[in-house]
Amino acid sequence: MRVKFDRDTCIGMFQCVAEWEGFEKDTDAGKAVLVDGEEESDDVFVAEVPEDEEFDAKFAARVCPVDAIEVYDEDGERVV
Ligand code: SF4
Repeated sequence: MRVKFDRDTCIGMFQCVAEWEGFEKDTDAGKAVLVDGEEESDDVFVAEVPEDEEFDAKFAARVCPVDAIEVYDEDGERVV
């Protein structure tokens, strides 16, 4: 499972940080940080989700008020 994070869209409400440890706070920037994320394109980061964290990662995506987080399965289908 893969997570994609659009940092430009993020408004720093930090609901995702409360749901999944794959996100941390950058309070200076007012943005979340995708831990171990690779910058795929301008301000868009991707990371693999460990199997035992998939539930939390999906929850983090669901609670984001601006849909800055997307989750994809192994076939590349978007699941959240
Ligand atoms: S929940 Fe969404 S808007 Fe809030 S910090 Fe996380 S990614 Fe950013």
